[in-house]
Amino acid sequence: MYDIVIIGGGPAGMTAAIYARRNGRSVLLLEKEGFGGQIAYAPRVENYPGVAPVSGAELAERMMEQVLALDTETDIGTAVSVLIEDDRRVVLTEEGERYETRAVIIAAGARHRQLSLPNETALVGRGVSYCAVCDGSFYAGGTVAVVGGGDSALQEALLLSDICAQVYLIHRRETFRGDVTKQLRLFARDNVTVLTPKRVTELIAPEGDLTAVRLRDAVTGEETTLDVDALFVSVGQVPELDSFSDVLPLTAAGYAALGEGGESPAEGIFAAGDCRDKSVRQLATAVSDGACAAISACRYLEST
Ligand code: NAP
Repeated sequence: MYDIVIIGGGPAGMTAAIYARRNGRSVLLLEKEGFGGQIAYAPRVENYPGVAPVSGAELAERMMEQVLALDTETDIGTAVSVLIEDDRRVVLTEEGERYETRAVIIAAGARHRQLSLPNETALVGRGVSYCAVCDGSFYAGGTVAVVGGGDSALQEALLLSDICAQVYLIHRRETFRGDVTKQLRLFARDNVTVLTPKRVTELIAPEGDLTAVRLRDAVTGEETTLDVDALFVSVGQVPELDSFSDVLPLTAAGYAALGEGGESPAEGIFAAGDCRDKSVRQLATAVSDGACAAISACRYLEST
């Protein structure tokens, strides 16, 4: 029986593990893919206080070293449900594991939102991607487009403009919600063309690989075709909480509707990080959430 099982090994989960272990609690940190979460895919992190510009992968690795130095138990597995059995909480995984614990911190993060175009899923790996760090090099020297107007889209476009001949940034509005410094840096590049206000309405792949996208102007309705080797979809995220709606109150958009301390009305259950409903999703706020949820969980354990 653990004191705390943490679901999700991104910055929120890793921070929660550090705080809980330093509080003397037994902790299992459970992650379904690779420890580090989304920050591991950020090419460069420049806004984390006290840390000189560094790749997201390296920063995540340093966080994980800190987690492991505290003798935190870790495992790979996909949590599919959390049960409440009297004073025991049980985390079940897709792989058939059953972990018993006194408290659970759900820091499951979020997955990439899709455009929901008919052939989008079929074209993943055939010209459609959600990760420039992972797939950008396949299109080195080519022509690519990024769709989206947030920090992620700007970041993806910046990275791709370093390696591709031409980058189009497609956004459905005239104004971008991403950071102004990133916008200025990106828009100054000779090989970047901004296409707004436009929506991607069709993925054209006559022989199974993407060759072009169809765009519709959001104001005039004019339709155009843009030839591209790849489309990088970066239109936000969807929280990964489908499996935990029994133990967490969710907003209409599916985020955990919980306050700063992450306490759920279901006793002994906490949520932290990008899956929690909040206005700012940054590395710094994920880390903050992890600390708050761990402190809440430790106080809960002291009181029971
Ligand atoms: P986001 O901020 O939610 O932005 C999503 C963008 O996609 C918005 O511009 C949105 O358009 C557009 N969009 C949403 N659905 C769409 C659809 N169906 N079709 C076309 N466009 C669509 O998401 P994000 O960029 O992934 O960022 C998530 C969080 O991580 C944010 O809080 C962000 O600040 C943070 N982040 C920070 C950094 C950093 O370096 N500091 C880097 C990456 C991410 P509208 O604007 O019209 O709604």
